[in-house]
Amino acid sequence: MIKVNDVQDVQSSDNPIIRKMSEMGHEQVVFCQDQKTGLKAIIAIHSTALGPALGGTRMWKYNNELEALNDVLRLSRGMTFKASISGLDLGGGKAVIIGDAKTEKTDDLMRRFGKFVETLSGNYITAEDVGMTTHDMEMIREETKHVTGIPQSMGGSGDPSPVTAYGVYMGMKASAMYKWGSDDLKGKKIAVQGIGNVGENLVKYLSEEGSVIYINDISKEQLNKVAAKYGATIVEGDAIYDIDMDIYAPCALGASVNDYTLSRLNCEIIAGAANNQLADEVKHGQMLMDMGIIYAPDFLINAGGLISVYSEIKGYDQKETLAKTKEIYNTTLDILRKSELEGITSHEAAKQIAQTRIEQSLSN
Ligand code: NAD
Repeated sequence: MIKVNDVQDVQSSDNPIIRKMSEMGHEQVVFCQDQKTGLKAIIAIHSTALGPALGGTRMWKYNNELEALNDVLRLSRGMTFKASISGLDLGGGKAVIIGDAKTEKTDDLMRRFGKFVETLSGNYITAEDVGMTTHDMEMIREETKHVTGIPQSMGGSGDPSPVTAYGVYMGMKASAMYKWGSDDLKGKKIAVQGIGNVGENLVKYLSEEGSVIYINDISKEQLNKVAAKYGATIVEGDAIYDIDMDIYAPCALGASVNDYTLSRLNCEIIAGAANNQLADEVKHGQMLMDMGIIYAPDFLINAGGLISVYSEIKGYDQKETLAKTKEIYNTTLDILRKSELEGITSHEAAKQIAQTRIEQSLSN
C-alpha cells in the first residue's frame, strides 16, 4: 500500500513536505493534533479545481507519521482523478487518523476531528473509509456538516456498495463490447474475487444476465451463502488465477494484478471494484496491453460509490444516481479507444482524460 521509496523520499529532502506536495500537485495539507483526546490526523486536499475536495477518512495504525503522510497524499490525488474522470464537480481529498481503530478510538476524538474538518469551511468534505463506522461519522457530524455517506434513515444516500457494483458492471459490459463487439455477458465465464458488499451485488447482476460465475473469497461462510443464492461455483484460494475464464473481476484487495498472477491469468478482460489493482501501474498496465488483455481502469469503473455520495450533496434521487453511474459505460469505451489509438495503456488514457478536464477548468 505504501511505497517505501516514497517514505525515504520524504525523509531525505530538505523541504520534504512542500516539495512532495508540489511534485504531486497538492493544494493544502493540514496536520491536526489534540493532546486532550490524543488525536493525530492529516487532511490532504489535492485539488479543488473542479469543486470541494471529497474523500473518506481512514483510521489506521501506521508504523510512523511519514507512512500516514504518504498514504494520505497518494489517496487524495487518486480521488481527484476519480472525480474528474467521472465528470463530477468535485475535487480530491482524503484524511487519515493515526491510531488503532479498535483500541484508540473515542467519541471525543472523533468530535475533535470533526472540529478540524469544520475549520476548512467545506473545502474538504469527509466520508467513511477503512477503520471508521457509521457511529464515528455521526460523532464527526456533530461538529461539522461537511460529511457525506449518511445513512438513508437520516436522509443520506446510504451504503454506496450497490451503486459501485452497478458501475463495475457497466465498465465490464463496455469492455466486453470493445473486445467482442457485443456486451452480452450471457454464458461468459466470469471470476469474481471477493464477494463482500460490492462483489455480491456484482454477482447478482451477472447471474441475472446468465453468466457462468466463479466466486473466490477467504470467508467460507460468504462463499457458501453466495453460491447457494446465485448458483455460482466456488473456487478456493489461489486456484482462482488458474481457471479458464473470460473476465477476471478483482473485488477484494489491491495489487492482485502482479508479476506472479499475470503469468497465470487466463482471461481476456479485467474489470473489478478493488482500488489499485495493478501492483505497478506502468509495468503491469503495459504487460496487460502486450498480452491483449483489456483492462478497465479501476478508478473509473469503481466510481459508483463516489457518484452515490455526490448525489447526496446534489440532492439527486436514486434514478439520477444510477443514470450518472451508467455513464461509466461510455467513458470506458472512450478510454479503451484512446488507449488503442494512441498506443498507451488504458490506465494512462484514463489519467490523461482526468487531467485534461482539471487543466481546462483551471484555464477557464
Ligand atoms: P468488503 O470488505 O465488503 O468485501 C471484501 C471481500 O473480499 C470480503 O468478503 C473479504 O472476505 C474478501 N477478501 C479479503 N481478502 C481476500 C483475499 N485475499 N482473497 C479473496 N477474498 C478476499 O469490501 P467492499 O466494500 O465489497 O469493497 C471491495 C473492494 O472494492 C475494496 O478493495 C474496496 O476498496 C473497493 N471499493 C469499494 C467501494 C464501495 O462502494 N464499497 C467503492 C470503491 C472501491
